[in-house]
Amino acid sequence: MRMEKIKHIFFDLDATLWDFEKNSQEALFEMFHHDKMNIKCGVDFETFHLEYKLINAELWRLYGLHEVTKEELRYQRFHKTFLHFNFENLDLAMHWADKYVFISPRKTNLINGAIDILEYLKPNYDLHIITNGFKEAQEIKFECCNLKPYFFEILISEELGVHKPHKRIFEIAQNLVNATHDECVMIGDSFESDVEGALNANWQAIYFNNFRALDTSRSHVKTINELSELKTFF
Ligand SMILES: [Mg+2]
Repeated sequence: MRMEKIKHIFFDLDATLWDFEKNSQEALFEMFHHDKMNIKCGVDFETFHLEYKLINAELWRLYGLHEVTKEELRYQRFHKTFLHFNFENLDLAMHWADKYVFISPRKTNLINGAIDILEYLKPNYDLHIITNGFKEAQEIKFECCNLKPYFFEILISEELGVHKPHKRIFEIAQNLVNATHDECVMIGDSFESDVEGALNANWQAIYFNNFRALDTSRSHVKTINELSELKTFF
């Protein structure tokens, strides 16, 4: 099972190393209660949060396709969630857009085993990041979680003008670290962005099936359910 040729290990950041789900939920929970949204929207946090996640995921999908801008994504996810619960307040949605991107990236919950696996891999491999997140948010996350010392290259799609799963971002990364395609592996929780993107660039890929999604169409791909399982490959 060892991946002998690999020299460069590229990680996704959100929901692969940085616990996006937990950090985001904590930030939203604080905002929800601060602004008494249970009264304004007439729902409990869990109901509100579930709807928000659906709306946010759809907007991120459209952002990946360049169909909404970053600015639209930032406030529309809240505005649309408010509207879903018959609460119209564009100003508050705009305010939440700023507040969320301030609070959330400063949260420091990491995925179980993240630091341990980085410590394990660092002596023998060059570790890098390819992330589709926003530049300013990603930089705060690296700082607040002390992640920077582990990585040589941190590629942020926003800075490069091309997002995963586009082949181009993997080619840029490969050139940057001066590697051949068979020396590179991408590890991430998004089957479409991380795994299919990397495979399409002729890289190796490992799918981090963080939420243990059952999908037999993905069974041909190297898969882990916990970061510690990477020790079987490296
Ligand atoms: Mg991710």
